[in-house]
Amino acid sequence: MQYFNTRNPEEKVSFKDAVVKGLADDKGLYMPESIPQLPDNFWKTITDKSDLEIAMEVIYPYVSDDLNKETLEKILAGTLSFSTPVVNVKDNIYSLELFHGPTMAFKDVGARFMSRCLGQFKSDQKVTVLVATSGDTGSAVANGFWKIDGVDVLILFPKGKVSAFQEYQMTSLGHNIHTAEVEGAFDDCQTLVKQALCDPALKAKMQLSSANSINIARLLPQMLYYFFAYKQLQEKHAGQELVVCVPSGNFGNLTAGLVAKRMGLPVQHFIAATNANDTFTDFMKTGEYNPKPSVMTYSNAMDVGAPSNFERLHDLYNKDIEAIREDISSFSVSDEETLVEIKKTYEETSYILDPHGAVGKIALEKVLKPNQVGVFLETAHPKKFDSVVEKALPDADLELEPIAAYTSSKVSIANDYNALLSILNA
Ligand SMILES: *Cc1c(COP(=O)(O)O)cnc(C)c1O
Repeated sequence: MQYFNTRNPEEKVSFKDAVVKGLADDKGLYMPESIPQLPDNFWKTITDKSDLEIAMEVIYPYVSDDLNKETLEKILAGTLSFSTPVVNVKDNIYSLELFHGPTMAFKDVGARFMSRCLGQFKSDQKVTVLVATSGDTGSAVANGFWKIDGVDVLILFPKGKVSAFQEYQMTSLGHNIHTAEVEGAFDDCQTLVKQALCDPALKAKMQLSSANSINIARLLPQMLYYFFAYKQLQEKHAGQELVVCVPSGNFGNLTAGLVAKRMGLPVQHFIAATNANDTFTDFMKTGEYNPKPSVMTYSNAMDVGAPSNFERLHDLYNKDIEAIREDISSFSVSDEETLVEIKKTYEETSYILDPHGAVGKIALEKVLKPNQVGVFLETAHPKKFDSVVEKALPDADLELEPIAAYTSSKVSIANDYNALLSILNA
């Protein structure tokens, strides 16, 4: 399988090169040149298969030029070391809990797979992985790459704009995990990283890669939990129409679901739930894509005004808005509605939603019919966003453990490219 550049489809690279480079030189994204179909027998026997067996069948065709089955199995077993249960919230509504990994957000899946692939592909030269984060990506990447030989990680996060728990998860690991807080916003961190990745002088000196969701090795494994959810629902809901709602920011998670559907996964309809950062919801209404500056919300991992993976999604549908509308609906949800939903769901069912999952559940209920089965992705543990959850549920017990004293690895830098260069050259 080759991967093409969305901005220059003539340019094709191997899986290995797509992973090591992260981003094409012209900032295009890599996409698989074809999407394999799973055979009928796969679907007939899915409930007899283990998650690892499913994962092997789904992923192998995408990587078979560069990884043998034995290596892939090792990588996948390391990636899938925690469960992704589908939990009934009420009636025909289920929560796909993606927060049982080490950093309590779904990004653990992509980060663990990518770090293991990169560990496999690295040459003798050390690889430096750069990542900009608003919180969850940084902690998942830090955890995924921790102590992997030959890989150094530098995480840039906006000073004062990540939660204490997220900062602890990123800055307490040490070893090969370096962190810098930037005097600026998430967008500034992202700009600095992209500038470094496209700096020829720097690239001549060191091998750089990116761990943001632009990297195809984060996207591919995110298909898996859609398959696992389908498998789990077969017992009670075989043959029923399935609607899946994805709380979205950079649109990596949704794009992975759409690729899974293209492989044959029977999802009737997807819903892209957004918060006040509604660039995609607007696009679905008007057919025009107008990125805007991000605004801060309670579901802050979705505070993205220019979703990177839009380019992939658009490409997957040959830029045909009608075809996109057939598969996807999109709704934007306010902070106010998010708090009300957390409170209402807890009172009705005693299930505690995190703000991202709450956005997803609201959007799901807008279109779900009684004869369908609805799943929303619960993308983070409510503990991770306790300050918001506590606004809605001042009396609920989130079982928070206090953060113990730790040695922080972070340095502070100005929002300035030379400041970034000085730590990279140190
Ligand atoms: C990253 C993140 C999202 C958004 O996912 P995308 O793939 O960027 O659309 C949603 N919820 C949480 C908790 C996240 O960390």
